[in-house]
Amino acid sequence: MSESNDCLFCRIIAGEIPSTKVYEDDTTYAFADINPKAKVHVLVVPRAHYANVAELAAKDPAELAHIVKVAQSIADEKFHGAYRLVFNTGLDAGQTVFHVHAHVLTGEVLDE
Ligand code: 5GP
Ligand code: ZN
Repeated sequence: MSESNDCLFCRIIAGEIPSTKVYEDDTTYAFADINPKAKVHVLVVPRAHYANVAELAAKDPAELAHIVKVAQSIADEKFHGAYRLVFNTGLDAGQTVFHVHAHVLTGEVLDE
């Protein structure tokens, strides 16, 4: 089975599983988290498959910087540029989907 058949977020990016699109461009896709932890909870992912943020940073640092810019622009639009950016990395840190994704939490004042 190919990576894209195997990986939930590759399937979402391919449109095989529905999602609520927030933003897209040639390299990046952003969609609403199905179980939001803030008023606005968006997942920003590279279209290419990397398991986690460390692998993305090593193999395509420009895409990692681009994901930060996309997060910033979502927060600029939704909540005067304030946001929390989280990359859970590893099972023991709560990573459940092994296609790197930035959690962008915004839209309201966040607890610490
Ligand atoms: P992780 O725990 O790996 O850091 O984050 C995975 C995130 O993906 C979770 O916040 C979870 O709610 C979200 N998620 C899991 N399955 C789906 C899905 O099918 N659609 C969407 N939009 N989000 C999902
Ligand atoms: Zn994937």
